[in-house]
Order: sequence, then structure tokens, then C-alpha cells
Amino acid sequence: MPHYKVAIVGAGPSGYFAAQALQNSVTDELTFTIDMIERLPTPWGLVRSGVAPDHPKIKTVAKVFEKIASEANFRLFGNVELGKDLTLADLTNKYDAVIMATGSTIGKKLGIPGEELANSISSAQFVPWYNGHPDYANFKVDLSGKVAVVIGAGNVAMDCGRILAVDPKELDETDTADHALDLLHKSNIRKVFITGRRGAEFAAFTAPELRDLPKLENTDVYISEDEIALAHKNAQDKGEIEKHLASNLEAMKLIAETPKHGHERSLEFLFSHTPKEILGNGKVEAIKYSTPSGDVTIPCDLVITAIGYESEAITGVSFEKGKIANVDGRVSGSNIYAVGWAKRGPSGVIGTNKSDAADVVSLLISDLKEPKSNGDITELIANGHKIVDQAYWVRINEAEIAAGADRGKPRVKAVSVPDLLRLGQP
Ligand code: NAP
Repeated sequence: MPHYKVAIVGAGPSGYFAAQALQNSVTDELTFTIDMIERLPTPWGLVRSGVAPDHPKIKTVAKVFEKIASEANFRLFGNVELGKDLTLADLTNKYDAVIMATGSTIGKKLGIPGEELANSISSAQFVPWYNGHPDYANFKVDLSGKVAVVIGAGNVAMDCGRILAVDPKELDETDTADHALDLLHKSNIRKVFITGRRGAEFAAFTAPELRDLPKLENTDVYISEDEIALAHKNAQDKGEIEKHLASNLEAMKLIAETPKHGHERSLEFLFSHTPKEILGNGKVEAIKYSTPSGDVTIPCDLVITAIGYESEAITGVSFEKGKIANVDGRVSGSNIYAVGWAKRGPSGVIGTNKSDAADVVSLLISDLKEPKSNGDITELIANGHKIVDQAYWVRINEAEIAAGADRGKPRVKAVSVPDLLRLGQP
């Protein structure tokens, strides 16, 4: 009976869904050993370091990941870094197939003057900072000013804007990293703008996320009713409005119509604002937009760019347009496959990765030849290197949850690699 070994690089949603697709493909004639390699001591990828802390329901998918990880044919190799502890060639030699589930971690740039000023940052820094990603635990965010601008009309921009605009008391019972929660409590930011470069009919927000906004208890949320009426008309002029857009426009209309309470904190959406220049002497002082009615300058103290991501380069793989060069997930001339954002770019919600990974795994299976028998990955990792296997991770996970229970939170995250390794120490 053929038995194949598959390495998955990256323990985020697309990696787990690829593992699940492999597990679902096991038959009497076909079996797999699945080794998941992850640079951090913690798995779950964006479910841990991307999903906003005030959206705990989205994180419940981690239960599915843990079920996949508990299967006998799955091994986690956390705290193991490709390019440092192992090379890609090591993996392609030892495994029948290598699935790259490495995501997109670099924030896209606007390419406008002033983008390099202090207090002009990227969602690729701000989001992992408030979520306690070890690489960003010491990132410095300046929340001493009053006005913040978030550029982009997608769900990441909405997460960044909402985290800045809510009363931090509303985050006390979440797993926001302690360093971020402390600073948010001291934040002077009271006005947040989220700006889209096109009309509201082109916004990439999704309706469930928009519908959450009128429920904020201490923040008034503004969208111009005229903007939404115009977006509706523009969309209608092109024919029948498709369902997704209709519910988005409806959710935005609801925000526009919701009575305002005169809260000190506000979140305001502006559309048809194309960023032209970030202005300031050494640090951000204002942002200039071009709009249909001419240039508009908004004084502000912080600019967060949330306009999408690109994948980080990995030695041994070609990249094009910010993602791994691939056709339907297959990397030509190799036994390498790509899934998730590394394959298709930064699009879709977590669930999108399930069918996507299943399609790539079908291709992978159709490519399989004679199984390799080149020994085990553990032979490649230096003696004494601390590997976070599933049991080690379970101890980290339980320790964080226990620390959270004492403080009425789902967990308290350890935010440095040494602290995480200590937490799970047998
Ligand atoms: P996104 O949905 O692709 O949105 C990117 C936004 O940036 C778009 O509005 C885009 O406008 C704008 N943009 C791009 N280049 C720009 C430029 N040069 N100047 C100004 N604006 C620019 O990306 P995302 O927000 O990073 O989200 C990534 C994926 O994760 C999405 O699929 C999203 O739904 C998902 N996500 C989901 C959740 C959730 O379910 N709660 C939370 C976070 C993220 P144009 O349309 O004009 O290009």
C-alpha cells in the first residue's frame, strides 16, 4: 500500500485545511504522514495573529485545527524555521510533496510621498502588534495624537479602525496582547477615518463586519447617506445589483441611519478619497487626498495603510505578483505546491481556504509517483533544538488559557519566543 510523506510549511488556516484534505483522502490504498513545519512556537497563523481580538467567534475554527492535529498521521514541528533550521531542498528531497502555506506577511505600500514619515505604519505591523505576534511585541505605536487615518476599504482596514476607535474597556475581556491593551487604554485617539479610494459600491468590506459597527457602545460611526445613495445608483445603473453588494450597501445604510450619541469617540468612513501625499515635518501631521471635488487635506497624527499584502520571498521558490509562482497551486518542475494566500494572494475569508486546499491536494495526489524513503525530518534538525510538537503546543495553549481564566479572558498570550517555550516546558 503506498504511503507518502507530505510536509506542510506554515501552520495557518490554509496549512491545516491542506492537512485535512490529505486526511480526508486516505483510503485502503493510499496513506500519508503529514509533517507541519512552523517558524513560531504557536500554530494557527492568522487565527492567532490576524483575526481581531473582538471577533472571538471567528477564532473557534481553531477547534477544527486541533482535531486535525490530533490525528495519528499528523506531526507538528513548531519553532522550526525554513531557511534556518531546514532548507527547502531538505524538504523536497525527504518528502514526496511539500505544500507551502506561508501566507502573505508584507504590507503593500502606497508609493506616495511621505509614506516613510514616523507614525505612518502598515496593518502588517499594527495587526500582529495588537495580537501579540512575537516579531511585533516591541513594535512602537504612537497613540498620543487625536486623529488616526486608516487607508483601505477592506476588512483589515475595518479591524484596524475599530480597534483604534472602540473604548478599550470593550477589549478588556479579549485576548488583545497586554502591551497593546495597556497602550490602547492610554491612547488619545478619538477620531478615526477609514478611507477608500473608490466609491462605496467598490468597498471590499463584508456585510457581517459592517453590521457589527452600529452595535459599538461607546463610538459613533459615520457614513454619509448621500455617498451610499450615490453608490446604490451607480451600481443600479450597471444592471441588477448582486447579492453581496446589496447586503453591503444595506449594512452601510444602516450605519448611516443609526442615531449618533455624541460619543467622544468616532469612526468615519470616507469614499472616493485617493491618497496623494502624507504631510509632516519628521512625523505625520496630515494626509492629502484627491477626491472628485478636488484635493482634500485631513490633519491627523497616525496613518495606517491597510491595502493588502505580499508574500515574503523564500529561497528556492519563485514569486510573481507578490505570491508563489504557481498554476492552480502546482509549482512547475518540482514537488512543491502552494495553498492559501501564498498561492492566490491575500483574498478570501478563513473558510475560503478549505475548498482551495482540497483542490490543490487533489492535484498533488494525481502527481504522486513512487513513494520516497529518505529518512525522517528529525535527522535534519540540529540536536538540542527545541521542537514544539503537538504535546508541547497543547501545554502552551493550556497555560495561556489558564492565565486568561484568572482575568476573565479567553487567554493571555505570551508574546516572546522564550516565554512561549518556557510556558510549554515539560
Ligand atoms: P482587501 O479586502 O483586498 O482590501 C484592500 C483594500 O485596499 C481595497 O479597498 C483596495 O481598494 C485598497 N487598496 C489597494 N491598493 C490601494 C492603493 N494603492 N491606494 C488606496 N487603496 C488601495 O484586503 P484586506 O483588507 O487586507 O483583507 C484581506 C483578506 O482578508 C480579504 O479577503 C478580507 O475579507 C479578509 N479578512 C476578513 C476578515 C473577516 O472576515 N472578519 C477580517 C480581516 C480580513 P481597491 O478595491 O480600489 O483596489
